[in-house]
Amino acid sequence: MKRRHFITGTALGASALALNACHRAEENTTTSSVNINKGKKVTLKLATSWPAHFPIMGTGVDNFAKRCFALSGGSLEIKIYPKNILVPALQVFDATSAAQIDAFHSGVYYWKGKNSAFSIFGGMPLGLTSEEMITWMKFGGGYELWRALYAKFNLYPIIGGTTGPQMGGWFKKEIRSLTDLKGLKMRIPGLGGEVMKKLGVNPVLLPAGEIYTSLERGTIDATEWVGPALDSMMGFAKAAPYYYTGWHEPGSILEITFNKVRWEKLSEEHKAIITAASEEMTSNMLQEFRYKNAKALQDLPKHVQIKTFPKDMMDAAKIALKEVLLDESKKSHDFKRVLESYEAFYALNKPYDDISTKNFLDIRG
Ligand code: CA
Repeated sequence: MKRRHFITGTALGASALALNACHRAEENTTTSSVNINKGKKVTLKLATSWPAHFPIMGTGVDNFAKRCFALSGGSLEIKIYPKNILVPALQVFDATSAAQIDAFHSGVYYWKGKNSAFSIFGGMPLGLTSEEMITWMKFGGGYELWRALYAKFNLYPIIGGTTGPQMGGWFKKEIRSLTDLKGLKMRIPGLGGEVMKKLGVNPVLLPAGEIYTSLERGTIDATEWVGPALDSMMGFAKAAPYYYTGWHEPGSILEITFNKVRWEKLSEEHKAIITAASEEMTSNMLQEFRYKNAKALQDLPKHVQIKTFPKDMMDAAKIALKEVLLDESKKSHDFKRVLESYEAFYALNKPYDDISTKNFLDIRG
């Protein structure tokens, strides 16, 4: 697969190069003031929150950079800096805002501390799936709100991938009813963590490198991560045999975010190439997650038990979520405004989804 991608990329790159040469030849004979940077070589520094070539997310952004280079005929080079090479993983937002680097690839939910409304863009418990989320962003007003809020930080965000539905996490003991959650320590971030807190869980935040050891030693009782493909790499099955289906991150999106001033200085051609390459990256990532999750699920060790959370817990989670959203809306006008737009799209989409996708999946069985 990789090799075929590379060949396609190279072939497209060659034709883009030829096209570019034509454009440059034309420019020499006409006086256009529209794209003054056209054809000029631009190099951008992009830092990520992932280790080098981290599967799916890291390789996704690696391919994005390759595609920008190929589509621009080599005039747009995006240099990828994995976490902690130029900037620590969770300082990429600030570093891009301050123009120490040009762009970053990360998850929106990490910046909840900057503005609580960002947690909605990151993904909502019991909310929109990846496809629905992207539809809201593009057609339902989400992008306008996101860009207006990020502009206050001198940032210009673009969707840079999505995980698809995430699993509910790994538990050392089976959860038979809501009461089994009381006092459990679980690694779970974002709004899902807030909901769990109301259900009696003690949500903790741990860096990726410490999760397995904490679970294995019993410092934590449970953890969520992503889905079978990436969870298997973390080895959680060895420490916690109960693997629960998801509810808290049905459609988390990732971002490729640029320093806004730097973005505005790019030529229209380069902006169009970045936009197209990020669209490609997002759909590729969703498909790659789906395929690799399906494979990894088949390959889970035999002792792993797939479970669905009990009904009394999910009923309580729905009530707790309403309380969390109401609390956050009272505290932040931005959160309230983004939530209203999100909920308006949810209400618009649900009746159609019920008679289309949901109905079909029920029929298909
Ligand atoms: Ca997660």
